[in-house]
Amino acid sequence: MKYVGAHVSAAGGVENAPLNARAIGAGAFALFTKNQRQWAAAPLTPESSTAFRDNCRAAGITPEHILPHDSYLINPCHPEPEKRAQSVAALTHEMERCEQLGLQLLNFHPGSTLRLIDDDEGCRLCAETINWMLERTSGVTAVVENTAGQGSNIGYRFEHLAAIIAQVEDKSRVGICIDTCHTFASGYDLRTPADCEQTFAELDRVVGLQYLRGMHLNDSKAAYGSRVDRHHSLGLGLLGDAVFRYIMNDPHCDDIPLILETIDETRWAQEIVWLHSLVEA
Ligand SMILES: [Zn+2]
Ligand SMILES: [Zn+2]
Repeated sequence: MKYVGAHVSAAGGVENAPLNARAIGAGAFALFTKNQRQWAAAPLTPESSTAFRDNCRAAGITPEHILPHDSYLINPCHPEPEKRAQSVAALTHEMERCEQLGLQLLNFHPGSTLRLIDDDEGCRLCAETINWMLERTSGVTAVVENTAGQGSNIGYRFEHLAAIIAQVEDKSRVGICIDTCHTFASGYDLRTPADCEQTFAELDRVVGLQYLRGMHLNDSKAAYGSRVDRHHSLGLGLLGDAVFRYIMNDPHCDDIPLILETIDETRWAQEIVWLHSLVEA
């Protein structure tokens, strides 16, 4: 069974996210549990947490299909120890918010080396951050997303994800999220069925598809291998249909959140319908 949704707004309170998901016919969703551009956040009130759970239930969306995303300021592999400590604390705090909401996953980017350290050291620091926060929380899995490799971001090679997982102590609480736009922009082709077979086989060989906890379904404005992160609406970018048909028919993508982060939210409802239409009987 495929669970498709979008990264919906939580403006006015986290309890509004499941309502927004329901309105577009989603079976999954992503959200920010706090303002994504600020370090500080007011604590979640018990009323808000309860309303969130009630609204998820009313929308028929369960915690394993909800993929909260961390704030944009966090850099889990920041080369400067004091700045990294700030990110570690913020990420741990986001995990605690997920626990409060009864959620099981937290999606984040592995971070940026700022060109002060090499990618291997970035992966090591990211794993150290994950170990630290997993020790201090329970029940929430750290879900590392692959990146386009823009700027000095790590995570643009499947080997980076593998190196991070290899250095995480509790393998039961670490996973990956694969973004189709990032994958393509970072130089893994997805334009034909054969490309998809090859790219997913490589992901399985290097990381292991058993770690797949979510997917971001985005088309790409930026060219293959450009390492530029520019999402587009499905069908309007450079990816074509093949990758979405592949994902909607791949059993590895069953029962995980499949999340649109496409740029035109007025198209989300029709994108969800279109994705379901790709499922072959
Ligand atoms: Zn993404
Ligand atoms: Zn992106």
